[in-house]
Amino acid sequence: MQTKNKLPGLYVHVPFCAGKCPYCDFYSIDDATLISGWIKALEKEIHFYKDVLNNFDTLYLGGGTPSLLSDKELEKLIESVHNNFSLVPNSEITIEANPGDLIPDKLKHLKALGFNRISLGVQSFDDDILRFLNRRHTSKQADKALADIRNAGFENLSIDLMYAVPGQGKNGWINTLERALSFSPEHFSCYQLTVKEGTLFFTLKESGEVTFNLGEEESFLLTSDILEENGYTHYEVSNFSKSEKFFSVHNRKYWQHIPYLGLGPSAHSFINDIRWWNFSSVTKYIAELKKGFNPVEEKEKIGEEEKKLESLFLGFRTKKGIALGALKGYKKVEIVINRLIESGLIEIQGDRAVPTKKGFLVADSMPLMFE
Ligand code: SF4
Repeated sequence: MQTKNKLPGLYVHVPFCAGKCPYCDFYSIDDATLISGWIKALEKEIHFYKDVLNNFDTLYLGGGTPSLLSDKELEKLIESVHNNFSLVPNSEITIEANPGDLIPDKLKHLKALGFNRISLGVQSFDDDILRFLNRRHTSKQADKALADIRNAGFENLSIDLMYAVPGQGKNGWINTLERALSFSPEHFSCYQLTVKEGTLFFTLKESGEVTFNLGEEESFLLTSDILEENGYTHYEVSNFSKSEKFFSVHNRKYWQHIPYLGLGPSAHSFINDIRWWNFSSVTKYIAELKKGFNPVEEKEKIGEEEKKLESLFLGFRTKKGIALGALKGYKKVEIVINRLIESGLIEIQGDRAVPTKKGFLVADSMPLMFE
């Protein structure tokens, strides 16, 4: 029998944005004329899975910019989900939103549709930084959206912020954090600006027009200290929560190999040790479903060894760390563990190896030491 929190999660990728942010490498397009075709295709995709998986305890609308969808479009989407899948009582139902989209009537409608968690892409409260990031909202709009979210009765709010942005400086980042704290969100996701290949920022970096990577390490530690001083738990490299109750139930599925079904272009799924992902292109996704095909681009079986290594990567990114028993079988385990302890990257707590804050900074390279 599946216990709650081990139940599968449901993800829907909404691949539409009003424009492209220069740092973003997620799949999204700005052609809103494809929305109705995408919703019809999504309904068809749901039919491939309705008898395979059920009883989800999370629904996560991510993107892209799900808050761009109209009330009617959201209604259709939620209706299709409920008509074909069941969500257990008190499921976590999240929508990612941009501040400029959240007017009070929209929030009322989201509440009526059952959303109980909002993940708001604020990024910064500095208008110069927002312009540099080509975001389509102002700090004033973010203030208003945050106040309106609370007025609409949402009690689980997550704020996304970004640090190490050129021109931000230490004080600018502290100001943003403090202004976000004044809204007392239940959760924060704080990401370092990274410059990924294929983005506009990558081109600017390569041409030398803009210098990136400014004080990430200092900002990371500062963020952790400030949020912990304000009562938040730093429970994953980029995530902070007021209490365990507000740890992201959905994201924990990714970190703990709990099954999840991803619908929509480029969405990934993981069920029975098989991982698969859909075609990214919205037009290809729609065309495949129109022809009656499942739009899966590729599938792979995750073997025991690979799963074990993935668990190390995922585990060292979370405060819970890794059970020492899970490290058995790797070469020179004791030597590596002692080296990590001596370097101040992990601590042993009971029967677990737990990353320190310094360890979080190199979480992605620690598992490689065990290979
Ligand atoms: S709004 Fe979000 S998903 Fe869309 S381009 Fe910007 S960062 Fe990417």
